Amino acid sequence: MAYTWEPKWEVFEVNLDGIKFKTCRDKITGLIACPICIHAASRCLGEPEPRNYVYENSFFYSAEDLINHIKNYHIGELRKKLEKLLTKTSEEEA
Ligand SMILES: [Zn+2]
Repeated sequence: MAYTWEPKWEVFEVNLDGIKFKTCRDKITGLIACPICIHAASRCLGEPEPRNYVYENSFFYSAEDLINHIKNYHIGELRKKLEKLLTKTSEEEA
């Protein structure tokens, strides 16, 4: 994806299989952004930008693809972090 591409965000509501959340969608390409990667809250939902946030560019053609990305990438990462944290705490306790 070109670095010169400037998305024009609009609010898009994902509503699929009981999963419902708001994220940003580019008006021109119709690509849906991952709300975690781009920090949708500050990009198009009017919330202030967080400090020290690691932004990533992740865009998807369909809500299914986005949900798969969240499941595989973010939930997987979270689980790894939790496991690390748990091993750390049990090591400290021992
Ligand atoms: Zn993401």
